[in-house]
Amino acid sequence: MASFIGLRKAQGAQIGFVPTMGALHQGHISLIQAARKDSDIVVCSIFVNPTQFNDPSDLLKYPRTIEKDMAMLLQQGCDVLFYPDVSEMYTEQKAEKWDFGFLGSTLEAASRPGHYDGVATIVERLFKAVNPHRAYFGQKDYQQCMVVQSMIEQKQLPVELVICPTLREPNGLAMSSRNVRLSAAEREASALIYQVLQQISQQKFITPIAEVVEAAKNKLAQLPDSRIDYLVVVNARDLSPVNNWDDAPALVALAAVYVGEVRLIDNMLIS
Ligand code: AMP
Repeated sequence: MASFIGLRKAQGAQIGFVPTMGALHQGHISLIQAARKDSDIVVCSIFVNPTQFNDPSDLLKYPRTIEKDMAMLLQQGCDVLFYPDVSEMYTEQKAEKWDFGFLGSTLEAASRPGHYDGVATIVERLFKAVNPHRAYFGQKDYQQCMVVQSMIEQKQLPVELVICPTLREPNGLAMSSRNVRLSAAEREASALIYQVLQQISQQKFITPIAEVVEAAKNKLAQLPDSRIDYLVVVNARDLSPVNNWDDAPALVALAAVYVGEVRLIDNMLIS
């Protein structure tokens, strides 16, 4: 991987990189298309990273559809698939320890201990192998984008992070590899997550944040067989708490909800 990219870079090629865990859907494909526009060589990686799963059964149940993924990548004109084995990425299956400050302890980090250590460890290793000019990540995983940006700055890596918009099902549900684990009825009902995020955004500067979030939680609680992990409005830059709509130049509403056993996340920027 590294020698191929080294050769093409020496010839002046621009390299765009899309890291994924496979089970590709249109959300991933939108990242490939964004990379395609900016790059001479588009590299996609598929690697289900064991160190970012805090729940072993979630790792076991993670969908793996490599044949279908390869067909989709070929169809999209992706140039290179990097599909390493776990033993190629880890001699010892352990994440390095990282310090992301508040980002590394709030929301997803609080609910999934060690998750971002795993993410940062693998993303840095993938960046070292692929050495891209630009890496494309989805806003769907908003906190992950902030963590990767911090990792790039801490390690002073010459990679530009490009954050791409969240692709949604026609009913508004954010596309996710985990959606295949939802029943048809759950998939339909889960559109409520997007609706409450929209409801929050539409109330900005009209109703106090605390009231808006309370009303949104009540509405989301109507989702059958579900449990809200968090639903918050915070500072979009560092995810620190806010009390008022004008406490920061940009806010973000973030939600994590269990529907049955499936954990879904979504977010909406409020600027
Ligand atoms: P994953 O395979 O879930 O690790 O996701 C790989 C990349 O695709 C990450 O940067 C995700 O944020 C991004 N992604 C996942 N779902 C979506 C979506 N619905 N829209 C846009 N990007 C997405």
